[in-house]
Amino acid sequence: MCRHLGYVGPPASVGELLLRGPHSLRTQSWAPRDMRGGGTINADGFGVAWWGPAPAAVTHYRNPDPIWTDPAVEEVLPLLTSRAVLGSVRSATVGMPVQRSACAPFLWDRWAFSHNGVIPHWRPVLTAVLSDLDVAATRTGLTRRYETSHLLEAEALTDSAALWVLLRRLLDPDTPAGLAEDPGTAVRLLVTTVLHHAPDARLNLLIGDGRALWASTCYHSLSALVTDDFAILSSEPYDDDPRWQSLPDRVVVHAEPGRLNIEPLEPAGATAT
Ligand code: GLN
Repeated sequence: MCRHLGYVGPPASVGELLLRGPHSLRTQSWAPRDMRGGGTINADGFGVAWWGPAPAAVTHYRNPDPIWTDPAVEEVLPLLTSRAVLGSVRSATVGMPVQRSACAPFLWDRWAFSHNGVIPHWRPVLTAVLSDLDVAATRTGLTRRYETSHLLEAEALTDSAALWVLLRRLLDPDTPAGLAEDPGTAVRLLVTTVLHHAPDARLNLLIGDGRALWASTCYHSLSALVTDDFAILSSEPYDDDPRWQSLPDRVVVHAEPGRLNIEPLEPAGATAT
């Protein structure tokens, strides 16, 4: 398991958000409370993305070492401010590399992405998912745009990095799906397609574009703290503010200041297989 957190609101300190509260994301790296599916600590690196004044200007800082060993968290990152932040601490799935390029958040265009979970047999599963997305694209009469070679664009040999290749294609306005205006639908389409091929997959996804956050819950925990001023989605609440809402399993969430939409992943009565 990994832990992740997204923030959108008034300018906030990037480092402070990683350290905020008695149960901060940094604390969750060595003392998480809601462990599901094995793993005890999140010591295989961390990362944080933030946005510049122009929304497309997103950048990130990542380190494959445990977050508690990096002095930049207290000495550098607190000096940066942003209206949106997306952070993650990683517990590498067994067999997946521990390296900087495998640490979320992954970036593309104005987007940042994190995945908490695992896809068993991710290579054949995501190859099949890719071909399903290709079929969906072909049905609309458009040129075939999804090819297996696209999986080679993954930044690291991990399920999460490969998942991001697929999701960013769904978000890309230049590809047939072109769901950039409807990121919740992109998240739902990807998660349900993966579950069709791998019903045991654990798929807590989190994306942000600097203005809003979208997430899925599938197996792992996620909580929301949304006010008129700011919106936060976090694997675990970082404090005991009574406004935290624990989100149900198998939903797609859209959060921005003053707004929290929670919709079921699948229509009522549908199954994942
Ligand atoms: N499978 C992903 C990885 O290894 C995410 C792991 C997790 O959620 N713990 O990076």
